[in-house]
Amino acid sequence: MTDRPGHTATVYLVGAGPGDPGLLTLRGAECLRRADVILYDYLVNPIALEHASPSATLVPLGHHGGGRAVSPDQITDQMVEHARAGRTVVRLKGGDPSVFGRGADETAALRAASVPFEIVPGITTGLATAAYCEIPITHQDDASAVALIAARERDDKSTSIVDYAALASFPGTMVFYMGVGRAADWSGALIAHGRSPDTPVAIVRWATRADQEFVRCTLGTVVDVVRARAIQPPAVFIVGDVVDRAPDRSWFTARPLFGVRVLVPGSPITAQKLRERLSALGADVLLEPVIRITQAPDIHAVDRALDRIATYDWLVFSSANGVDALLQRLHERGGDARRFGTTKLAAIGSGTADRLTRYGLRADLTPEEFVAESLAATLEEHAPGRNFLLVRASRGRDILAEALTAAGATVEQVAAYGSVDVEDPNSDMAAALAAGTIDWIAITSSSAAHALVRLYGDVLRGVRFASIGPIASATLRTLGHQPSTEAAPHTTNGLVEAIVSARTGARG
Ligand code: SAH
Repeated sequence: MTDRPGHTATVYLVGAGPGDPGLLTLRGAECLRRADVILYDYLVNPIALEHASPSATLVPLGHHGGGRAVSPDQITDQMVEHARAGRTVVRLKGGDPSVFGRGADETAALRAASVPFEIVPGITTGLATAAYCEIPITHQDDASAVALIAARERDDKSTSIVDYAALASFPGTMVFYMGVGRAADWSGALIAHGRSPDTPVAIVRWATRADQEFVRCTLGTVVDVVRARAIQPPAVFIVGDVVDRAPDRSWFTARPLFGVRVLVPGSPITAQKLRERLSALGADVLLEPVIRITQAPDIHAVDRALDRIATYDWLVFSSANGVDALLQRLHERGGDARRFGTTKLAAIGSGTADRLTRYGLRADLTPEEFVAESLAATLEEHAPGRNFLLVRASRGRDILAEALTAAGATVEQVAAYGSVDVEDPNSDMAAALAAGTIDWIAITSSSAAHALVRLYGDVLRGVRFASIGPIASATLRTLGHQPSTEAAPHTTNGLVEAIVSARTGARG
């Protein structure tokens, strides 16, 4: 956004919703895109931060409640300081900023400091939970009102200000937030004031996320259930007869990959599409960028290729990264896609072809299979006497160049971007792998397999691998891992299907 020193910028208090990345509002996403600084709570799903500009400063604020990492005063001080320096600030909160989010304390401080602000509402956890568990939070027969209740109030408040005598006869659904630690207090108080211990209760932890947990119990058993299942925050408790109307498996939890955790190692662009597909089927997808995309090792070589771009008969893009790198460089130099003239375009994989369309370009050839050999076979008939430019990473296999040369083409290659292995393993990921909480590792390239094994070594034993095709499978075998399933066709969709079938098969 505008960074105008001397002008106070605006602070946006934005509700991120309860966790599912799709539950952020359009306005919220817009604010994130424009923000210079984003201060975010631990309840915010970090995927929301992907809307942020790469140059934005991201500031995690740690846990709510007891172990608060940053005090409320420090948070408002930071917001004021950044805004006064002309930096647009987003204060990103879980759910809705006005529902148990201390939003009013923050806006009061901003107003006192004459810092302009806006509030962007979010979907509060209680309402989203009802939708994702199919609990009709109001119902013409069972509930004509809804109460959102803070089970734990201010840290310094010794006595409750919640009127449990009144709540016990509340004619509708009650949603308790922050109620895990105080389950005995609020459920006991409601029963003591006459609410039936048989009143249905839904406990929902990490609502709307891929790892959502839903447990049904009653007001009389909720304390035991929380203890027996060792339920940890964050969870909401929906209390009322409407809970009985929820199916055991809702539209959300009945999706084919719900409860399945898949690790996708690779560059973010490659992994992105796979994540979208797997998440849409309910999987919990963890991305591990084992490869980092860098600048072209020799930008002059890229420029030389661009200067002669229309002289090639064919341009072959082997990845979406290559498309971005080449097209962005072309734009930086003041050109656009018209420079390609009549040069034909080939793209390996539909993801690469999709990326071309962002620049208004359509691939003339997109081999279905995710292997360079098939592209070679498809292109060979066009090869004799033609000029090819292969747009690729600094590392990669030469098989395509060799095959085309053998078929009579003149082949040049340009490294449009660099690819380097990430150096340090992510300790959370290593712990999850060791604990056996990851069901699948989806391998989309040999380089991803190599990088993953180099980073994590032995903790990968015992995790199932799904491979995109024969080359990646062969690489996995040489690294000592037998893939449990292989995609057919060798595409992102094929890989998703292979994981779905393996699960359906396992379920019987
Ligand atoms: N502003 C938030 C609430 C913040 S208070 C909102 O509108 O949703 C923090 C409490 O919210 C947690 O203790 C928990 O009760 C609830 N909560 C937040 N996110 C949650 C989630 N994804 N699943 C279950 N409960 C959640």
